[in-house]
Amino acid sequence: MLRLYRFYSSVLTDRRYALGLLFFLMLALWSGFANEQNLPAQSPTYKAAQSDYSPLTKKKPGDHPLLASLEKKYRGKKPQKWGAYLPGILQKFPTQEKELALTLDACGHYGDGYDRSLVAFLLQHKVPATFFVSGRWIKKHREDVKKLAAIPFFDVQNHGTWHRPCSLNGRSIYGIRGTCSVREIIIEVEDNKKEIAALTGRTPLFFRSGTAYYDEHCIEIVQTLGSRIAGFAVVGDAGATLPAQTVAWKLLHAKPGSIIILHVNSPRSGTNAGVRYAVPRLLKQGYRFVLLKDIKEFY
Ligand SMILES: [Zn+2]
Repeated sequence: MLRLYRFYSSVLTDRRYALGLLFFLMLALWSGFANEQNLPAQSPTYKAAQSDYSPLTKKKPGDHPLLASLEKKYRGKKPQKWGAYLPGILQKFPTQEKELALTLDACGHYGDGYDRSLVAFLLQHKVPATFFVSGRWIKKHREDVKKLAAIPFFDVQNHGTWHRPCSLNGRSIYGIRGTCSVREIIIEVEDNKKEIAALTGRTPLFFRSGTAYYDEHCIEIVQTLGSRIAGFAVVGDAGATLPAQTVAWKLLHAKPGSIIILHVNSPRSGTNAGVRYAVPRLLKQGYRFVLLKDIKEFY
C-alpha cells in the first residue's frame, strides 16, 4: 500500500508524468463526450423523438435545382383555396367508350396494411389498376411494391413521402398536418418519386397527396416539378370507411371517363367485397379499366 502511495506521489510530483496524466484525463473526457454525442442517435428514444417528417434521404432534405427559384416565387404568398377538386387536379378523362380508371391508395398513415385478397381478385380478372403508394407504406411493403410494378396491367404512382396534405403553409385536414413550405413540398413529392423509381425502375408521373387535399400554390409547384395531380371523380370507399354495398353502388354508378379512388391498405374494410361485387358486373356491361399512364390526354 505504501509502495502504491509512493508511486502515485512520484507521478503527481513529476511534471512530465503529471502532464501525461492530464493529457490522458482529457482524452478520456473527450472520448466520453464523443460517445455521449453518438449514443442518443442510436437509442430508440432518440429515434422516437425525431420528427415524423424527417427526409428519407441522407442528403440535404429538399435539395432540388428548382428549390431557390420556387422559394423566391412563393415567398410571402398566402393560399386562398383548399380542396380535392381544384383546377389542375385531374378527375376524369375524355372518352366515347365505357372506360373507367381504377386507382387504389396505399396510405400507410392510419392504415398500413395490405389487402392481398383485393389485389388477387384484380389479378385474377386482369383488371388494370393504378396504385398510389406513400413512402410510409413503402417502408413496410418494399417487396410488395416491386411485385405490383412487375404486373403489366398494374402501375405504381406517387402518394407522397410522408402522406401529407399539399399545403404551402401547413394547413391540416382530417387531423393530418400539411406541408409547410416549398422545401417540404419538394420532400413530399420528389423523395417518394425517387424511392419508387429506384424500386420499380419507372419514375412516377402522377402525384396524389396524402388526403388528396391541395392549395392552389402547391398544385402549381407540383406541376412545376413535372408531376400531374391525380384526383378523382368518384370517391369509391371514402378512405376505406364505407360498407361493401355502398362501394359497389358507387362503382356501378360511375360515369364513363371517371377516375375512381379506393384503398388497398385496409384489408378489413368493405372495399374488397364491394369491388368483387361491382367489377364483374361492370365488365359484363362492357366496361374496361384503363391505367392513368395510358390516358394520352394527361400528357
Ligand atoms: Zn392516402
